[in-house]
Amino acid sequence: TSFGQGGLNPSIMNSLEKHQYFKPTPIQCQSIPVIMKGYDVIGCAKTGSGKTLSFLLPLLRHVLSQEDLKNGDGPIAMIMAPTRDLAKQIHKEVRKFSISLHLKVACVYGGGSMSNQIGDLKRGAHIVVCSPGRMIDLLCSNNGKVTNLKRVTYVVLDEADRMFDLGFGPQILKIMQNIQPQRQTVMFSATFPKRIESLAREVLNKPIEIIV
Ligand code: AMP
Repeated sequence: TSFGQGGLNPSIMNSLEKHQYFKPTPIQCQSIPVIMKGYDVIGCAKTGSGKTLSFLLPLLRHVLSQEDLKNGDGPIAMIMAPTRDLAKQIHKEVRKFSISLHLKVACVYGGGSMSNQIGDLKRGAHIVVCSPGRMIDLLCSNNGKVTNLKRVTYVVLDEADRMFDLGFGPQILKIMQNIQPQRQTVMFSATFPKRIESLAREVLNKPIEIIV
């Protein structure tokens, strides 16, 4: 198997090659084709499995397929992660691709400069990587004029179990209420206890479960 079989854009394929990603990992083989068909997905995967590219490659394809890439207000795709460190790590991975694809990315997390983060959003970020607390702050500040999520149609909830264990359940639900129901949502979690199942039931639409 290779990344080339799934209908990824040639520009994405070039970036994969440039960063020496040649062969998809098992979670990538299983989840990328399903996500690219447009289904909501619950992926059971740990760090180190390659889960980041599993949600990122379909995200990039989704964003590139939008017609109003230039003149939009607010991001098209959102990736939410439990901690600042994880958000930064995902941001770094996104940047490997976004630069050559001419896509703009903002990374918003607690402890970072609020004005820089707001600036990145206002300059027309297509993709936002965030932690839940700071995203809520930005949505609520200045009467919602800082950013909005009205244009978001692709959502990733990464390490959902950790987000939940850190107490972000209510924030996740609140953020998701700001996003149109006509969206694709992908959730990754290392474990699937009952509380994650019920969160999944609330935010996902007929998800396909992928366990490797
Ligand atoms: P992740 O589980 O997404 O945090 O990825 C773990 C590590 O594996 C990261 O350093 C990735 O750059 C690397 N990685 C992910 N997918 C592949 C792949 N298909 N081929 C080689 N390395 C990969």
